[in-house]
Amino acid sequence: MAKPRVTILGLGIMGGGMAGRLLSSGFPVTVYNRSREKSEPLGKAGARVADSPRDAAGRAEFIISMVADDAASRQVWLGESGALAGAAPGALLIESSTVSVGWVKELAAHAADRKCELLDAPVTGTRPHAANGELFFMVGGSATAFERARPVLSVLGREVLHLGPIGSGALIKLINNFACGVQAAAFAEAMALVDRSGLDREKSIAVLSGSALASPLIKRMLAAMTSNDYTPNFPLKLMAKDIGYAMREASTAGLTLQTGAPALAVFKHAAAQGLGDQDFSAVMKSLDTP
Ligand code: NAP
Repeated sequence: MAKPRVTILGLGIMGGGMAGRLLSSGFPVTVYNRSREKSEPLGKAGARVADSPRDAAGRAEFIISMVADDAASRQVWLGESGALAGAAPGALLIESSTVSVGWVKELAAHAADRKCELLDAPVTGTRPHAANGELFFMVGGSATAFERARPVLSVLGREVLHLGPIGSGALIKLINNFACGVQAAAFAEAMALVDRSGLDREKSIAVLSGSALASPLIKRMLAAMTSNDYTPNFPLKLMAKDIGYAMREASTAGLTLQTGAPALAVFKHAAAQGLGDQDFSAVMKSLDTP
């Protein structure tokens, strides 16, 4: 049976890998990226390269967006030459970027006006998981739309989980990244204290990496530190964005995330030092100089 046409909007670390994965799995893929140069390798690999999100959306059965934040998502869906204007009625829209719940709900209403359904389907996993079909999709939206999307999302993910109504995926993703961000900020401070207090660094790392502290996230940070390689898998500025969004969602629910504010301050401090485009683990470098 012919595979459905899929459009990917946004070819950064995640969207680029996802588009490549769909192509190598035999899907007819159309791609759009704001900076056109990122489309070129995918064009060479067989994707149709579109000039605008609107152009990219035409004829697609599934339209997946994977861009930075609420503003970028608004731009690709609703901006001048946005994808929604080009989407055929009945196309299934999938917002996989990490965005706010309020924006996802607003976008779903715009989609309904266009006789399209929207799923929010953010992911955990990072660069290699996107390229290798090993993401974990957290999906919000109707059960019918979820079942329709499952065959496509299953090519991109090792897990595809329906959380509940629209916005549910966005919310659990922000909760996840809030907790990751706090842990990363705390570990950066812990390492700064190791260095400041003159402890033996190697032996201290042996202790910290062998204790209950050594979560997969902390192991990633330790690996980046040891190799001094902060090539972004998950850009630092996006971690700051996610903590901020999570704090806003909590506030809407009448809860203050007490640890969110200091963690966000640590990440903002790092971004202000020009580390925003490096991996989130570069937050450790920002505390070298108080
Ligand atoms: P990235 O490499 O920084 O790519 C960001 C993408 O957004 C690029 O395609 C960029 O286009 C586009 N973009 C930014 N602002 C835009 C605007 N105003 N209009 C149109 N396009 C715009 O980020 P990423 O790591 O792929 O992350 C994408 C999403 O996945 C984010 O929401 C992130 O939080 C989430 N996520 C990332 C990871 C990870 O490990 N990297 C894991 C889970 C979830 P240009 O190329 O033109 O700049």
